[in-house]
Amino acid sequence: MHVRTRFAPSPTGFLHVGGARTALFNFLFARHHGGSFVLRVEDTDKERNTGDARAAIFDGMRWLGLDWDEGEGKGGDYGPYNQSERTHLYDKWFEVLLEKDRVYEDDGAWRFRFERKPVTMNDLVCGEVTIDYRNLDNNPDMVVRRSDGSYVFHFVNVVDDLEMKMTHVIRGEDHLMNTPKHLQLFEAFGVEPPQYAHMPLTLNADGSKMSKRDEGAIIGDYPKAGFIAPAVANFIALLGWNPKTEEEVFTMDELIERFSLENINRSPGRFDSEKCAWINQQHLLKLDPAAFAEAARPFVETASLPITDRYPAAAASVQEKVRLLSEVPEALDFLLKDDIGIDGQALEKVRKSEAAGTLLAALADALESLDRWSADAAKECIGTTAKANGAKPGQLMFPTRVALSGKTGGPDLGDILGILGKQECVKRLRDFVERRL
Ligand code: GLU
Repeated sequence: MHVRTRFAPSPTGFLHVGGARTALFNFLFARHHGGSFVLRVEDTDKERNTGDARAAIFDGMRWLGLDWDEGEGKGGDYGPYNQSERTHLYDKWFEVLLEKDRVYEDDGAWRFRFERKPVTMNDLVCGEVTIDYRNLDNNPDMVVRRSDGSYVFHFVNVVDDLEMKMTHVIRGEDHLMNTPKHLQLFEAFGVEPPQYAHMPLTLNADGSKMSKRDEGAIIGDYPKAGFIAPAVANFIALLGWNPKTEEEVFTMDELIERFSLENINRSPGRFDSEKCAWINQQHLLKLDPAAFAEAARPFVETASLPITDRYPAAAASVQEKVRLLSEVPEALDFLLKDDIGIDGQALEKVRKSEAAGTLLAALADALESLDRWSADAAKECIGTTAKANGAKPGQLMFPTRVALSGKTGGPDLGDILGILGKQECVKRLRDFVERRL
């Protein structure tokens, strides 16, 4: 069987985490089975159907790397891929229901006559779900065509899935109870239905339902916040899918390889921003230093820091220190700026040591007289200078870090020395002794 899945968003102006997860799981399932992933836009609500609202969804999917095989910009054999352009197909299938006497007029609208029997679906995630249509009060015949001639969601959704030859429908649990209605329609059409898999909702950390106003809800916000796409795809996959191993960090290829519907969780996934940041960090560490520097560059530029010759090495020195790209400017600003600020607490700590001034001045002299400058040689100087002045290396290392960076923590001290270079190190040390101590 050639697997065919689809993501069928209604354009809303943003791609929500829940929608992105639906898209991702359909994508992973299709790719895992060498099938096709279709993008169909359910744009029957004319007011919301603006170009911008559509673009927000396409952009979010492209950013996440969820490339579709058919649909917007791709074409395909089962188009058009916008519901607003498929009325002729809905009319055609409505005729089938008319011929079979499965619809009747009611106040200008048309109702679909349910078969009065229990309908059981075998959901690939939720298991068996039965709706008993013998109960007329709970399940009155449903309107499929409104009096203005437009068709309702259930009808168009089913017609599209059968016309587009979908084999699997993976969607949110909010559609679970719609599915028996869909099965009734498939049966009336005389067409084999796809297999359904309904995923539990995604919740906020506190267990409340996630809305677009909640932290992390909108995919378009992630790049600005310093996340990279493979990390977000990884994180979203874990919101509802269990890899059944201790590992949690996966590339898209690894997700494709491991994904299966059996491992979709039955309970709702909870959004955890700490976990999301941690996964981002793991993916940042996978980047080679040049790619990391490139990815961080827009954030450094936005912070109005000069991209100097030191930038590539400066970026590399903080790659292990940040969780989000947005943290990069603060982590490396002292390596790019000439005029650095000194953190108040760091300064207090240095001032507590009486020997700091003498040691730093001696280090400036020793560094200045180094013939061959290298990070290792400079680091060695710290040890020999401390020793020559009857101190331990540690007593000089901390003041040196503060004098060079203005902070108590940061990249490896050897990296800092190497990146700043001889002249700048000597200047900063002398400046610190003169102006701050
Ligand atoms: N447009 C529907 C939604 O966004 C699609 C439902 C489905 O996937 O079948 O909820």
